[in-house]
Amino acid sequence: MSTPLLRPPGFGWRESAPGVLELYAEQTRAAELAARFGTPLYCYSGRAITSRFRAFNRAFRGAPHTICYSVKANSNLAILRLLGTMGSGFDVVSGGELARVLRAWPGAARKVVFSGVGKTAGEIDAALRAGILLFNAESESEVERLAARAAGLKKRASIALRVNPDIPAETHPYIATGMREHKFGIAMSAAPAALALAASSRWLRVAGLSVHIGSQILESGAFAAALERVSCLARDLRSPLYRLRYLDAGGGLGIPYQDPETEVQFAERCRQYAEAVMRPLRNLKLRLLLEPGRAIIGPAGILITRVLYRKTNGRKSFLVVDAAMNDLLRPSLYGARHEIVPAVWRPGGASELFDVVGPICESGDFLARDRQLPEVAEGELLAILDAGAYGMSLASNYNTRPRAAEVLVSGSKPRLVRRRERVRDLYAQEFL
Ligand SMILES: *Cc1c(COP(=O)(O)O)cnc(C)c1O
Repeated sequence: MSTPLLRPPGFGWRESAPGVLELYAEQTRAAELAARFGTPLYCYSGRAITSRFRAFNRAFRGAPHTICYSVKANSNLAILRLLGTMGSGFDVVSGGELARVLRAWPGAARKVVFSGVGKTAGEIDAALRAGILLFNAESESEVERLAARAAGLKKRASIALRVNPDIPAETHPYIATGMREHKFGIAMSAAPAALALAASSRWLRVAGLSVHIGSQILESGAFAAALERVSCLARDLRSPLYRLRYLDAGGGLGIPYQDPETEVQFAERCRQYAEAVMRPLRNLKLRLLLEPGRAIIGPAGILITRVLYRKTNGRKSFLVVDAAMNDLLRPSLYGARHEIVPAVWRPGGASELFDVVGPICESGDFLARDRQLPEVAEGELLAILDAGAYGMSLASNYNTRPRAAEVLVSGSKPRLVRRRERVRDLYAQEFL
C-alpha cells in the first residue's frame, strides 16, 4: 500500500500493522510524544525547518540577500537558535522579540531588522544599544523619534522607510497590510519628504526602503506589483543626501494549507516567488532583505491533541479535544482551515462529519467545522497540521488554560523546548 503524502520531510505515515498507519514526527511516533510530554503539544521538525530555510535561501542565490526570519510567526528560542546556526537574520516587531533573538543567538544583532508601527522609546533604545542592522520606520513622527533617541544615546541608526504601495493582496483582510487604508507604512508620495527629514539628522543613516503587503499570499503577482512600485521609487530617489543600500521585500509567502507539498514543489514555489521579487530590482544594486515567517515554519509544526469526549447535539457530531482556541487561534480568528489527521489511521475505514472543538466557553472556540474525519474514539489522538506558524505565538491563557508544551524533533531525538505552563504560573504576577 502506498502511503499518502503528509508534510515532508517532517511528518509522515508509517505502516505499523497491515492496514494501520501511524503518524510520525521524523523518527518518532506522535503517540509516543503525546505519552511522554502530554497534550496539547506543539511538535516541530528540525529537518523540516532546515530544509525549508535552505530552499528559500537557495531561491534567492541570484541576488545578494539576507533572510531575516519573521520572529512573530514562531518565537521559540530553540527555533530561533536553529535558524541562527543556518545564518538567518531576524525581523522583530517588539522589544520582547528583540530580547528573545539576543538570548537565542547573541551574535544576531547585526542581522536584525526592527519593523512595526508603534515602536516605543524604550524599544528603540534597546535596539540602538544592541546595534541592529536596520529600523524600518513607518511614519515621519517615528523618524523624528528615532533621530532623538539615537542622538540621546550617541548611536547612529540605519533606517529604511516602510512604504505602503497601495497594492491589494488576496488574503484574509486582517493580514493584508499593503493598502492605503491600512495603518502600515508611509504613502509612496510622502516618502521623499520623510527620507529628506531622516537625512537631515546626523544620527540617522538613510539606508533603504521596505515593503510588506501582507501574509498568506499565494499569488506571486501581488509581490511583483509591489516590488515594481518600490523599485520605481528607489530609482527616483537619487539624492546627494543619502545612498540606498537595502531593499526589504518583507514576508508574506503563503503555504498550501489544504494540500501537501513535496520538498521539490516547495523549492519550485520559492523560485517563482524569488523571480517575482528579484526581477523588478535588477540593476538597482541593492541588497535584498527577506522576512519570511510562515513559509519557513508553518508546515514544520503540528499540534497534537487528545479527544476528551464525543457528543451529538441533534444532527451535529462533536469531538471535544483538549486543545482550544487559546492554543491555536487561527480557525477562530481568520476562519482558517487546518488539516486534521488521527495519530493512528486505518485508511478505508468509516468516517463521519465532525466539528472539532475545544473546552473554552465560546461558540467561536473551534478547530474545524463540518470536517469529514475517520472514526476516532475518546482518548485517541488527533494532529492539527501546518500549525508551526502563528500557532504558539498567538496562544493565550484564556479560561486560565496553561499554554502547551513544545518539542523539537530532530531525527530520533525529541527535545522539550518549552515546558507546559503550570496553573500557578498563570497567577504568579497577581496580588491579593
Ligand atoms: C508578519 C510579518 C512578516 C512575516 O509574514 P509571513 O506571512 O509570516 O511571512 C514579515 N514582515 C513583517 C513586517 C511582518 O509584519
